[in-house]
Amino acid sequence: MSSYETINPHTGQSEHTVQLMDAAAIEQRLAAASKAFPTWAARPLDERAALLRKAGEALTRRREDIQRVMTAEMGKLRVEALAEIDKCAQACAYYADHAAEYLQPKEIRTEAQRSYVRYEPIGCVFAVMPWNFPIWQVFRFLAPGLMAGNVALLKHASNVPRCADAIKSVLDEAGFPAGVFDVLHIDNDQAAEVLRDPRVVAVTLTGSERAGRSIAGNAGEQLKKSVMELGGSDAFVVLDDADLDKTVAAAVKSRFDNAGQTCIAAKRFIVVAPIADAFVEKFVAAAGKRVAGDPQREDVTLAPMARADLRDELHKQVKASVGKGAKVLLGGEPVAGTNAAYPATILDAVGPGMPAYDEELFGPVAAILRVSDEAEAVRVANDTTYGLGGSVWTGDAARGERVAQQLECGAAFVNAIVKSDVRLPFGGTKRSGFGRELAEHGIHEFTNVKTVYVA
Ligand code: NAP
Repeated sequence: MSSYETINPHTGQSEHTVQLMDAAAIEQRLAAASKAFPTWAARPLDERAALLRKAGEALTRRREDIQRVMTAEMGKLRVEALAEIDKCAQACAYYADHAAEYLQPKEIRTEAQRSYVRYEPIGCVFAVMPWNFPIWQVFRFLAPGLMAGNVALLKHASNVPRCADAIKSVLDEAGFPAGVFDVLHIDNDQAAEVLRDPRVVAVTLTGSERAGRSIAGNAGEQLKKSVMELGGSDAFVVLDDADLDKTVAAAVKSRFDNAGQTCIAAKRFIVVAPIADAFVEKFVAAAGKRVAGDPQREDVTLAPMARADLRDELHKQVKASVGKGAKVLLGGEPVAGTNAAYPATILDAVGPGMPAYDEELFGPVAAILRVSDEAEAVRVANDTTYGLGGSVWTGDAARGERVAQQLECGAAFVNAIVKSDVRLPFGGTKRSGFGRELAEHGIHEFTNVKTVYVA
């Protein structure tokens, strides 16, 4: 493959074709990153912050153009794309304001005259990113990473090359020096080569478990640091004392926004018996109101999926689950005459051995898992190879907190949808990955945590 083509998920038409870079173009970017690093790392933090602030302003200025690119390339609803861009602009402002405090050396008392930890930049970090939040996933890594003094090369998902170019042009417009950030239009074999290059010191991946095994494996072989933000199958635990209307509204939003293609979307709805029928009835009614169609239109509330092959894969998981006893309460059949769209779908009576129970459903399909009580809810919530997020819905916040503490995941929320927040660390356990992004833990991942000891 010497090029890749982006198909508009709503129209099914070709958007554009991008040529893969050749070895000389890749070499030129690696050399530029390597040359830029020492100067960038030595630049005072407030100068780095001023540039990042400008990048945030450029995002805001260009939000309409970038939104159209996102919607054309991966089908995001206009309103969701604008919200994503705004979140990135806020992240730029946040890390411009707060990185100094996160990177402040930490005194540690010992018998020495002085002993402390410094957080030093490490070099060029390779970022391999997915299409589902094509701007946010990049800025989630980039804003803290650049403030830490590192430089970065991005390999974006092959269906969103123009989103990658838009990010590059935003940083150029902000005045970032050459080599501090660049985009590589490359395939996965070329990505493995880049990771082997000694000028690349670490890698961060947001993507599937399959990509994680490959990239973390290669990084391990090269003894390079990696952060893995992988898939999830978050539990949404509904206890008997939950406020039904609020809980149902949150369930619909968490599962069906972004056409369900969110790593921390609620995917397994674990509902205790006393409230199960009432919850399911309201959930089906509310999800059925999502309107599919042209993602550019403001009255459309369910985006198409990003690619027809992903839709087909999801439908296979639905059919296999139904074949093993799951009941379709809503949707369940691709919409005729549309390209990558899949209807809002709810499966009831989901149990072990079905893809809807065992695997990640990366699209607008909710799995209902009925349980008898709170203890069983916790057991089922943890009966997964994933460990990204989870939420608990209850009228008793203290009870919710007790349950949240028992969930085996990187982020447990009570009476709130799991979301990423620039102020809080983000990441998973088990096969959802390792390492953290955002906040103090995230910004420290790609630094040399260096001990200085003065006897
Ligand atoms: P994907 O197929 O793994 O792709 C993600 C990125 O990895 C793309 O840039 C892709 O490039 C690249 N890639 C895939 N295989 C690779 C390999 N062997 N070597 C090097 N690069 C490779 O995932 P996706 O379908 O785009 O995204 C969906 C998955 O990401 C879901 O599982 C979702 O839960 C997860 N996700 C996790 C988080 C999180 O924060 N934990 C956030 C969002 C999404 P190509 O496009 O060129 O193949």
